[in-house]
Amino acid sequence: MNELINNCYFELFSKQQQNQFNIGNSNSKERIRKLDALKTAIEKTYRLEIQDALLKDLGKPVVEAELTEIYAIIGDIKHAKKHLKQWMKNHKVGTPMSMLGSSSHITFQPKGVCLIISPWNFPFNLTFGPLVSAIAAGNTAIIKPSEMTPNSSALMAKIIEDVFDEDEVALVEGEVETSTELLKLPFNHIFFTGSPQVGKIVMTAAAKHLASVTLELGGKSPTIVDKTANIDKAAKKIMWAKFLNCGQICVAPDYVLIDESIKVEFIESCKKWLQTYYNNNPKKSDSYGRIVTDKHFERLNAYLENAKTLEAKFEVGGETNRTSKYIEPTIISDLKPEAKLLEEEIFGPILPIVTYNSLDMAIAYVNSKPRPLALYIYSKSKGNTNKIINNTRAGGTCINNSVLHYANHNLPFGGVNNSGIGKSHGFDGFRAFSNERSVLKQHTFGVTELLFPPYSSFKEKLAR
Ligand code: NAD
Repeated sequence: MNELINNCYFELFSKQQQNQFNIGNSNSKERIRKLDALKTAIEKTYRLEIQDALLKDLGKPVVEAELTEIYAIIGDIKHAKKHLKQWMKNHKVGTPMSMLGSSSHITFQPKGVCLIISPWNFPFNLTFGPLVSAIAAGNTAIIKPSEMTPNSSALMAKIIEDVFDEDEVALVEGEVETSTELLKLPFNHIFFTGSPQVGKIVMTAAAKHLASVTLELGGKSPTIVDKTANIDKAAKKIMWAKFLNCGQICVAPDYVLIDESIKVEFIESCKKWLQTYYNNNPKKSDSYGRIVTDKHFERLNAYLENAKTLEAKFEVGGETNRTSKYIEPTIISDLKPEAKLLEEEIFGPILPIVTYNSLDMAIAYVNSKPRPLALYIYSKSKGNTNKIINNTRAGGTCINNSVLHYANHNLPFGGVNNSGIGKSHGFDGFRAFSNERSVLKQHTFGVTELLFPPYSSFKEKLAR
């Protein structure tokens, strides 16, 4: 306990702990009022400041800021508002005949005091998205955004302070030490979005207090293009999904696994679409972003150097600029299996192409790596598609598209094992922040009472 009292966030945590039942007993109208206040702040009061912060932190084009951050959160809020009353209702379930005289239901109660730790790649979306679910489910929350996007984090702190009292929602800025201190507190639930490495640290800390966790992690998301695929359409969508936000997306296609026979045609199509998207000059294009920090630029640059050392083929791109943290959209083939690009999550604008000769080979390749957050399939063959789905495991899949499953509120979003634990978005987000409390109510005499002791009469019956 002393250790906790000395924690610099203990006072804030205690305030929320004391307030949790007050917040938790709010009805749907009160929760919707809070969601509306957050929506107004994002949509009206701070919209331009959000665009500006994202431009400063990530060179994020305004249209991308609108679509993937502002519109995304507003969409989350609208969806929650529309369904909240229904989500909060007790959920009746059947009761077996042997329990005649009773009825059963599930009641969704808030977990309590929650911690949300978020990453930098979509700072607003991935901080406020979980917050919408936490509020909808009636929790209090302390938020720790990423230190890598300081303009966005500072603005989010301002927004939270503006909209909420700190005994309901508070945002704490800081680096790893801040997370470490917060993780010592006995939160009821921890919602973490970030890398698998840090996910393990979070889960270890949660184990100390047996806090439940949602871990939204990352990994290498494969994209399989088989020989029945519409090659040009596949290239069009993969080029968009891979180079959006400069490849700094947890569900970005990490690498392409393609049938050897269509590789050349596919790469030609990719070149064509990249020229169209970035006007033949991504460096000058206002549709292309930058790498978030020098550290990440150096990490990606090292991948390129490693590929050169291993004599891989640069099909497209490869140009970099340290000062502006620019990395050209790059496609690389003929990589040796030991290449870093094929081992680590890339999280940047470099796309390795790996070829296969049979679908079984492609499936075996996917299964030789940790289970991914997403797996994409480009194919016109139902048989091939089913074969891939049935013989691999991934958090989510798009067929003949990439990334978009993330945006459907009706689909649970999350990973599996190395790419995550638990699901979020829409009802699944509400559920992640709720304790599904089982309630059995006895109405009349219950037949189970016939089984109470003394057991002598049963013994006689059993002996007969
Ligand atoms: P990260 O794991 O380095 O950091 C995430 C958060 O954890 C930050 O707030 C950071 O300050 C904190 N943190 C870092 N080290 C810590 C430590 N030792 N102890 C406690 N807290 C610590 O991740 P990142 O670089 O911000 O984001 C990139 C990763 O996140 C990628 O792996 C990507 O795939 C993943 N990601 C997943 C999703 C998803 O929804 N599944 C979304 C975005 C990003």
